[in-house]
Amino acid sequence: MNIKFLPLGGADEIGASCFYVNIDGTGILLDCGIHPRKTGYESLPKLDALKDLPVDFCIVSHAHQDHIGALPILIKQIPHVRIYATKQTVEIAEYTLHNAVKILRDSFGDTPELLYTHEEVDLLVRSMNDYRYNETFEIIGMRHNSNESIKVRFYDAGHILGSASILLEYKGKRIFYTGDINLNPQSLMQPALPPSKPVDILITETTYGTKNINDFKAWEKESDRFVEYLNSILNKGGSVLVPVFALGKTQEILSTLHKKLLKKKLTETIFYTGGLSSKINRLYDKNRFLVNYSDPDYELANIEQSDAYQINDLQTYVKNPGVVLVSSGMLLKNTFSYSLLSYWLRQSKFGIAFVGYLDPESPAHKVLTAGKGNKVELREKIEIKCSVAKFSFTSHARGDQLINLIDNLKPSRIILVHGEETSKDLIGFKLLDKFPNIKLNSAEKLKQIEMKL
Ligand SMILES: [Zn+2]
Ligand SMILES: [Zn+2]
Repeated sequence: MNIKFLPLGGADEIGASCFYVNIDGTGILLDCGIHPRKTGYESLPKLDALKDLPVDFCIVSHAHQDHIGALPILIKQIPHVRIYATKQTVEIAEYTLHNAVKILRDSFGDTPELLYTHEEVDLLVRSMNDYRYNETFEIIGMRHNSNESIKVRFYDAGHILGSASILLEYKGKRIFYTGDINLNPQSLMQPALPPSKPVDILITETTYGTKNINDFKAWEKESDRFVEYLNSILNKGGSVLVPVFALGKTQEILSTLHKKLLKKKLTETIFYTGGLSSKINRLYDKNRFLVNYSDPDYELANIEQSDAYQINDLQTYVKNPGVVLVSSGMLLKNTFSYSLLSYWLRQSKFGIAFVGYLDPESPAHKVLTAGKGNKVELREKIEIKCSVAKFSFTSHARGDQLINLIDNLKPSRIILVHGEETSKDLIGFKLLDKFPNIKLNSAEKLKQIEMKL
């Protein structure tokens, strides 16, 4: 059997994940995301490369923008593509893609062909096919050159609500795409449940492939350190800004802090949240019995929260200090967390705590590397008077866990994706050392890999 693998985005970077796989004439896209930091065509996967290729299906691993955000544009260009995802991913997509309509209008104003409307999102969401974890469904493309169909199955990836790894099975051969996979228990989502049987080809994310247990301690242990930091600011009457992704990180961090509050480890305080994350909280609650959840009786709706989006006077955070959990996690321009930044940096009693992945080019990374007492170049040069701290809460597998996964899945070929180039190189060397007989490819944008199985 012939398999072609062509990365259109998300190969050497974390953003715009989109991988074209052709199995005996059936064209499948794995994910179709945008790059959150870039704008216009730069932010999209290279969909032009699909021009002369059959594209029948798009199978989506999860609802983060870097995996799903370009779907409306894909459907505009190739309207007959059938889309598959888990039920929870479809539910979240409805919120996040509607939310993106306005964001796109702001940032793609000069490329109107990339804009889409609420009606188009409605149509798209209605046409998405949803399946449960571990349920097998079959697909067969228009130019498929055999009678045997391709079997597809979603496996719980433990990353966010609805996140899935994707197994493609054809003529007895198995291709496994991890998507964004997490092998640690978080506060709500529990570790991934990958297949127990071996696979032939493993396409794996490498976000934290170079990290080990010393870089990412257990969630519970890191949350103790986090709470200690928050208490040090709150007890002095300051507020703490925690920039977070609306989807996933907000729910995990909010519940982490709430559980600490219930145990009286965290100083009594106000949680300021709001926007898209509140809608997603409801989806977490709604689906809590259907996914691998730490405690299905636990509801985010029981956490008392104040709506940060309703606060116009920033002095509120001085008068009524609290923990402000708002997106975006990397303080990207035109987002709510960014709008608080210049005020926040000037408050000596305040703090900013980063809790997730920071793109090296992002404003968050600039603030963190400059640190307290130094100037940072944003819209203007601002001296950082507040305290700045970083905590390592990961929803991606560490390098040692990826090696474990490979040990269990025993692939004959591995393709590395979803990682910065240097970290992919490092994990690549490690893998070759540990598994000298494995064929290893580091995916590169628009560089096709041909395989015979
Ligand atoms: Zn993700
Ligand atoms: Zn991702």
